[in-house]
Amino acid sequence: MTDPQFLKDLAREAGRRRTFGIISHPDAGKTTLTEKLLLYGGAIQMAGTVKARKAARYATSDWMAMERERGISVTSSVMQFEYQDFAVNLLDTPGHQDFSEDTYRVLTAVDSAVMVIDSAKGVETQTRKLMDVCRLRDTPIITFINKMDREGREPLDLLSDIEESLGIECAAMTWPVGMGKGFKGTWNILKNQLHLFSATHGGKIQEGIVIKGLDDPRLDELLGTQADDLRRDMELVEGAGYPFDRERYLAGKQTPVFFGSAINNFGVQELLNAFVDLAPAPRPRTATTREVAPTEPEFSGVVFKIQANMDPAHRDRIAFLRICSGRFTRGMKLRHHRIGKDVTIANATIFMAQDRSNVDEAWPGDIIGLHNHGTIKIGDTFTEKEPLKFTGIPSFAPEHFRRVILKSPLKAKQLQKGLAQLAEEGAVQVFRPLMGNDYILGAVGVLQFDVIMARLKDEYGVDALYEPVQYTCARFVSCEDKRTLADFERAMHSSLAKDAEDNLAYLAPSQWRLEDTQEKWPDVRFNTTREHE
Ligand code: GDP
Repeated sequence: MTDPQFLKDLAREAGRRRTFGIISHPDAGKTTLTEKLLLYGGAIQMAGTVKARKAARYATSDWMAMERERGISVTSSVMQFEYQDFAVNLLDTPGHQDFSEDTYRVLTAVDSAVMVIDSAKGVETQTRKLMDVCRLRDTPIITFINKMDREGREPLDLLSDIEESLGIECAAMTWPVGMGKGFKGTWNILKNQLHLFSATHGGKIQEGIVIKGLDDPRLDELLGTQADDLRRDMELVEGAGYPFDRERYLAGKQTPVFFGSAINNFGVQELLNAFVDLAPAPRPRTATTREVAPTEPEFSGVVFKIQANMDPAHRDRIAFLRICSGRFTRGMKLRHHRIGKDVTIANATIFMAQDRSNVDEAWPGDIIGLHNHGTIKIGDTFTEKEPLKFTGIPSFAPEHFRRVILKSPLKAKQLQKGLAQLAEEGAVQVFRPLMGNDYILGAVGVLQFDVIMARLKDEYGVDALYEPVQYTCARFVSCEDKRTLADFERAMHSSLAKDAEDNLAYLAPSQWRLEDTQEKWPDVRFNTTREHE
């Protein structure tokens, strides 16, 4: 029988975990907000690190510089910090030049997200893409409208932009008083409390300025004519807006909205307080056979990301595993189900804000890093005994393609190895057409190609070139009827390829051709995503 004290510890530890990611368009303020959140979590030394990482990110063309920063970039890909009674795991969602499938996959490992919007810009393209991914799993999202110290769009206008472009209800939790030079602070709608903006108090919520409702005459003393503006806004919000509804938030249908200025550390603490309070603790995860609750005593976890060559001297690879249930202890024996082997996990890494340190114990919602010599793949499940396979870690059909041409044929082996590892890491998708010997690379974002080329040279000593190819989209092909599939393969041979995991893909030269082929082969499925087997 399971020790009742252990079950109690497990419920407590899982219940106090908050695992999330930040989604935003570049320049909305994700890095700045991350730094401020870490300051509240007491991980002050991180602040500089996040900036250093960002600097590295801008230097993508100079991969060596990026590589030098890599130790840092990896530590900050998962940051754990304590806040109040909570253990918060912040998973970085790479969003700039390195925007890729990886970004999407990280979102499958979080329980909720914070969306940062630039008040002058509103919803932007990348936010929209990331939101689509969140929607696949109905991930609950809290919104932070940033840069209120700048002249931006009207708050009501921003809310309707979010509602219309992203198809999610907004529930204002705070409301700005003015903006830009006239920005006075925010009104906390639930607490009936004014939070005054000042450049000098460092953003801490000041005690003592509690206003008893909007009719309190002290509001006029503090805000002057802006008090009436606030009253009018609040009437509008009450009339036209959605009141906060936790169930709808948890179902991903409503987003509570906060206003602030990350760089001035204003509104960040309010956001963090609400976040730990409202955001869900680890939720049950779906496996092929059943749903697994985090409070189940048996350990289980799923690999959602692989990062290669983190330390150029060791050529190691780290598999990032999200704990889904039970407790991880160092030295534990786990079953790696895809290959049916038991492995002893002696040197797992947990990603703390300060540095990478060896874990003794980790709980549902935590991320641990497993050293990997090529046997672990994205989507792999580890448990103590039960043969489980978690689902929901997708691979996206790429939208951009290039053919790789080797400069020296002597490097064919290295090219093969490099591409295999980079594909496994999820940095790029590699297709081998059924006809010929080509390597076709497919990516979700076009900037991935430069990174891949630089890494091939740097990490594998391969000099190569790209050639344009006539593909516009790829679809993963499946069909229940084996004979139809065989007919399809014969007929379409010259347009078919295998990806790195041997999945059959149809590479279409145009959208029109794709539609035409789909019409001709109604029993064949053309999937834009596939789950890792
Ligand atoms: P990221 O690309 O989303 O990580 O954005 P950063 O955090 O790097 O911010 C982009 C730019 O916006 C930087 O120059 C920041 O200093 C600036 N920024 C971030 N937050 C604020 C803010 O609250 N107000 C103003 N005026 N600028 C901000």
